[in-house]
Amino acid sequence: MSKWNLIVDVAECHNCNNCFIATKDEYVGNEIKGYSAPQPLHGHKWINILTKERGQHPMVDTTYVPTMCNHCDDAPCVKAGGGAVEKRPDGIVIINPHKAVGRHDIVESCPYGAIWWNEELSLPQAWTFDAHLLDRGWKEPRCVQSCPTGALRAVKVSDEDMAALIAQESLEPIRPDLATRPRVHYKNLHRFTKVFLAGEVLGSKGGVNDCLAGARVSLNFGETQIAACETDAFGEFRIDGLGQDLGGCRVEISHDGYSGETVTIQIKGDSVVIGTIVLKGNP
Ligand code: SF4
Ligand code: SF4
Repeated sequence: MSKWNLIVDVAECHNCNNCFIATKDEYVGNEIKGYSAPQPLHGHKWINILTKERGQHPMVDTTYVPTMCNHCDDAPCVKAGGGAVEKRPDGIVIINPHKAVGRHDIVESCPYGAIWWNEELSLPQAWTFDAHLLDRGWKEPRCVQSCPTGALRAVKVSDEDMAALIAQESLEPIRPDLATRPRVHYKNLHRFTKVFLAGEVLGSKGGVNDCLAGARVSLNFGETQIAACETDAFGEFRIDGLGQDLGGCRVEISHDGYSGETVTIQIKGDSVVIGTIVLKGNP
């Protein structure tokens, strides 16, 4: 049986908010019988874009992560709902807009914070995957349709095919620590969950400093090499996808014909930019 999944490529999201606005347009003030009550104009973010800045000047990047109901297969909200939250055979989770009235406990049951409380209607609400449109033959929800960069993809496949896709594209759940089996999968999530080490290497010869391409950069913890790379044509390097709390490490930089340099750094919670390292040319 084919089921719906959403794939979010974090590297392609530019924070244009089209997905957020399209979803607002679909639900604000609109009652969709059997699926959802109207979303209030203010306060709800059924698609909620998180932001993370990494690095220090001049090597900085900003990552945007669209989040929404994950339509979990092992959903705490379904368990808490006692019939007020339905898991459909196609994988979509729907909070019943009649049965869930007054059930604030359903908001609290979601460990992702993906359920919003409609004060006026006394109702928990979340993104429905636009199930009403898909049931009418749409091929994708409006957030996907409105995304100009292809950061969002909706796929309806068997769980076996989805498992293969997850492996093939290295997809991850937004919170691997939560065992709810989400149906929203993230690509390039390391830009949100991991840190990088970066810097610039110059070679100094005859009193002139110039960008040094091909310098070897090795990140070491004790006697163990954690990662390695080479500088590019501009003498710059970046090692991404590092754990946030590696503690004290050594960065060893070398190039044939130049003296080597070693820099001691602390990786603790944020990316590290070591600035400009000058290797002196051997006489
Ligand atoms: S993300 Fe939250 S609201 Fe959505 S299915 Fe999972 S537990 Fe339920
Ligand atoms: S529409 Fe696409 S690019 Fe724009 S914020 Fe949403 S996911 Fe990101």
